[in-house]
Amino acid sequence: MKYISTRDKSKEFEFKDVFLKGLADDGGLFIPKNLKKFTEKELNEFSNLNYIELAYKIISPFVDDFISGKDLEDLISKSYSTFREKNVIKLINVGDRKVLELFHGPTLAFKDVAMQLLGNFYEYYLSKEEDKINIIVATSGDTGAAAIEAIRGKKNINIFVLHPHNRVSPVQRKLMTTVKDKNVYNIAINGNFDDCQNLVKSMFADHNYAKSIRMSGVNSINWARIIAQSVYYFYSYYLIKKDRGPINFSVPTGNFGDVYAGYLAKKMGLQIGKLIVATNQNDILHRAISRGQYYSEKVQETNSPSMDIQIASNFERLIFDLNDEDDHETSSVMQKIKSEKKYDLDQSKLDKIRKDFLSSSADEKKVISLIKKVYENHKEILDPHTAIGYGGFDDVELEGTNIVLSTAHPCKFPDAIFNAINIKPDLPDELKYISNEKENFDLLDNDINIIKQHIKEKIQ
Ligand SMILES: *Cc1c(COP(=O)(O)O)cnc(C)c1O
Repeated sequence: MKYISTRDKSKEFEFKDVFLKGLADDGGLFIPKNLKKFTEKELNEFSNLNYIELAYKIISPFVDDFISGKDLEDLISKSYSTFREKNVIKLINVGDRKVLELFHGPTLAFKDVAMQLLGNFYEYYLSKEEDKINIIVATSGDTGAAAIEAIRGKKNINIFVLHPHNRVSPVQRKLMTTVKDKNVYNIAINGNFDDCQNLVKSMFADHNYAKSIRMSGVNSINWARIIAQSVYYFYSYYLIKKDRGPINFSVPTGNFGDVYAGYLAKKMGLQIGKLIVATNQNDILHRAISRGQYYSEKVQETNSPSMDIQIASNFERLIFDLNDEDDHETSSVMQKIKSEKKYDLDQSKLDKIRKDFLSSSADEKKVISLIKKVYENHKEILDPHTAIGYGGFDDVELEGTNIVLSTAHPCKFPDAIFNAINIKPDLPDELKYISNEKENFDLLDNDINIIKQHIKEKIQ
């Protein structure tokens, strides 16, 4: 499979470029030039596969010029051996909907599903080529831990994670800062998540600097993460054997990565009805889908911090589709969003979006009341992000089966849970030890030169 950038279709890329670079040099996002569409027959043949076998079938067309056959099978199998569930995910019934638990990986959030695979792609690449890589990533909590867990201990690769000082939950922080491997560097920034993200962006934008440290990124626009995530949409479909009808998913959404993976599964032929883009009160995507107003506002801090964004980076991939795959048009829309912080979607684009997507939003009070209601009625504790996904189905009538994506274990967000139901959710036994471990991180000012210097010194 060959890839192109959403902002310039004239150049072709291989999977290796796509996962190592993350972002195309022209600022666009990578997408397949021609997407593989599975036939009815192929889709039927998938129905009895276990998670690893299915992942192989879905992922291999995307990566076959980089890794294939037994190598790929082994890599996928190794990636998911770190999960506490044999088939990676778990589907449970909660009231009239199903909840797809995606948090059984090492850092208790769905991000492990993609990041474990990505970590092993790097290792495979470095076993073939003489190269040294430094991954630099900003996190509001979950990404950093998942990335560290995926990279720690691997040869010829370091990871630097920037988190906002005192603004991630203690469990989130400890999952990052108690890791002892020598190739892991945690940096706490005196600032907020946007500051961290801007620091990483300006390091990438400084091509000389980025080149000099062989910088690579693993943030949510990385295509390798998207394909890994599309697998569980397929797998959950096959878990429902009887009377399933079309399947609808409600997806707690920040950067539009996870829900885009569902859209990708649909484009590859999976019978998905609607995808609900469930947001917290940072509801730019809800305003875009319900009213056509993709207008960026100030980020508000909420009890679902992994969804606190005002620019949904992966939305560019949908904008490309909405503009009939016109790279020039996509490029000018993205320039406009950058300069004016707004984009108006006309009725024909909205009609197109609504064939596949619906949207919802929940403010802080609603999130707490959702956690409470679900616990009282069904004795299940949902984390705040998942609760928002659960609420996504409240106001719509859809044909078929409704599945909520559960993106994090409730113990990662104990304050919100305690606030809702007076219970402090426990860490899984294997992770209890982190509470007493020594933490390791450097606290640095929000100053690009200080950070650049710091990273250079560490990798000497
Ligand atoms: C990252 C994250 C999300 C948002 O996912 P996107 O792909 O950015 O839309 C939702 N919930 C949790 C727990 C997360 O960590």
